[in-house]
Amino acid sequence: MDGVKDYYELLGVDRKASEKEIKDAYRRLARKYHPDANPGDKGSEEKFKEISEAYEVLSNPEKRRQYDAGGMFAGAGGAGFGPFDFSSFGGRPGARTYTYTGNLEDLGDLGDIFNLFGGMGATGGRRRETRRGRDLATDVTVSFEDAIQGVTVPLTVSGRSACPTCRGSGAKPGTLPKTCPTCNGRGNVSQNQGLFAFSRPCPDCGGRGTVIEVPCDTCRGTGTVDMPRSIKVKVPAGINDGGKVRFPGKGEAGPLGGTPGDLYVRVHVKPHKYFKRRDGDILLDLPLTFPEAALGTTVEVPTLDGKVKLKIPAGTSNGRKFRLRGKGAPRPRGRGKGDMIVTARVQVPKKLSAKEKELIGKLQEMEKENPRAFLEG
Ligand SMILES: [Zn+2]
Ligand SMILES: [Zn+2]
Repeated sequence: MDGVKDYYELLGVDRKASEKEIKDAYRRLARKYHPDANPGDKGSEEKFKEISEAYEVLSNPEKRRQYDAGGMFAGAGGAGFGPFDFSSFGGRPGARTYTYTGNLEDLGDLGDIFNLFGGMGATGGRRRETRRGRDLATDVTVSFEDAIQGVTVPLTVSGRSACPTCRGSGAKPGTLPKTCPTCNGRGNVSQNQGLFAFSRPCPDCGGRGTVIEVPCDTCRGTGTVDMPRSIKVKVPAGINDGGKVRFPGKGEAGPLGGTPGDLYVRVHVKPHKYFKRRDGDILLDLPLTFPEAALGTTVEVPTLDGKVKLKIPAGTSNGRKFRLRGKGAPRPRGRGKGDMIVTARVQVPKKLSAKEKELIGKLQEMEKENPRAFLEG
């Protein structure tokens, strides 16, 4: 059968195969060769078209009879073919689509294959926009206080920017890009085959739908130039050290006026002289002398809103924590503010005068409790 495909062989079934066997074979192969499961693989795409064509014929009793009788279905382009109404499914210009265009009821329980790839009727799948600019990443360092309060930081971003001469269009000022004659401005060309309408980006305009007749001199028709840009970004209040912020559209310009990419900024927070952060909470170690801890006192404690008085009760032991509610950092997404947590650090003097030694010695003699009593017995 020169030039004529053997549909049974394509589906790997016997000539006496039942409708169910044909359907099962197609289901198995369609999953394997679906273009969305094999992005960019031309071989799989061809195979998928072939098995879809074979299935379309063999799943229809009337067509199968004709085929078995030697009817010529091979390479039938699909248009006006049997009960199927083929039509191209309109996607974004340049999008590559594989669309089931037949009657959905005829699909029956094969629907799962198409649901698997993103829904009945319009599988579409990966629609990567070729005109989108690249994402960029950069780092910024802010002070401890700025990380808590939020700050606007000036940044210089490298990479491609929209061409200032043609404003990104790629066309010499005073001229306009013209409608692509190949695709009539649709951006894609379609072709019907078997059960599917295949649509691919127009080869002549790369999916844009327009072609440039007179290119801009500055960017040579690309619409972008390699030029650093100065921008300002707002670091949100309460960010943690190492936190990442995404700024949509602040990345590289897309070619020929395409969508710009995003900018990702990693924020580094400088350490503070005495505060530390634990998410929304601010931590402070508060040194106390032994008499202060034993007798109690009131001390002034710094916070980010100024000083506050903190009462240290008599008998405060080392490591005791005091919580100052609402004196911390803002929590992300408006979940209120954290607290300030003050930890008592009772100091032991390293150098003592003769008088101090004498007094501490007296204190020792007066001590009635043995702090290690629990270790005995
Ligand atoms: Zn230009
Ligand atoms: Zn075109």
